[in-house]
Amino acid sequence: MTVVWSRDLPAAPSSVRVYRDTLGHWYAAFVVPVEVQPLPVTGAVIGIDWGVKETATTTSDAHDLPHAEHGKKAAEQLARYQRMMSRRERPKGRAQSRGYRKAQQQAAKLHRKVARQRQDTARKWAKGVVRDHDIIAVEDFRPKFLARTTMARKAADAAIGATKRALIEVARKHGRDVRLVHPAHTTMDCASCGARTKHALPLSERTYTCITCGVVSPRDKNSARVMLVRAGLNPAGADGVRPSGALPRAAA
Ligand SMILES: [Zn+2]
Repeated sequence: MTVVWSRDLPAAPSSVRVYRDTLGHWYAAFVVPVEVQPLPVTGAVIGIDWGVKETATTTSDAHDLPHAEHGKKAAEQLARYQRMMSRRERPKGRAQSRGYRKAQQQAAKLHRKVARQRQDTARKWAKGVVRDHDIIAVEDFRPKFLARTTMARKAADAAIGATKRALIEVARKHGRDVRLVHPAHTTMDCASCGARTKHALPLSERTYTCITCGVVSPRDKNSARVMLVRAGLNPAGADGVRPSGALPRAAA
């Protein structure tokens, strides 16, 4: 067997997991102790909210991540393979035909390609976020009801999942402080005064207006600031400004 190393082992491994993916390729994943590679202290914190249109909306405009829509083109092709499979499918207990397996393989290949594109985008973004911030407050997103949602929502959820994973991985590698924030009510709370609206804002409502303190801010930006507050951080520390102690009263 010809071994292709993706990178050198940084230390002696304590274990290895050997597995084969749906395409029949073999992989060996080694467990090695990770050495933290500290980065310079920046004095900056960031709050991150996950979404559909923008995968990540943050308290720093420079670090927002628009939805890359990987898989949009692939979706049509995938549907084609799935139709081919259902046409060629044999009853349970009988071996599947060559044509069926071929369509299955092509679908798996496409899936993997899209997953890699997502991971690539996610890692590049995560590196920038981790380099520029000491503390990262991030919505602890968990995709729900995947089977019942639209293709667009599924793609958005997959992008969020890959991006969150990459962020935690890169942050840990560099010894940054990641705080996972419970997602409940983050779209209903005012980041400025802490008041909670009676109803969740409909997705079409892009502006958060607080009836208690009068603050007006883009909805996702408000949510990103709520992450900071919930993580016990001061929104004044966002945007590279050092925390000053006082909460800003208006962000409009
Ligand atoms: Zn308010």
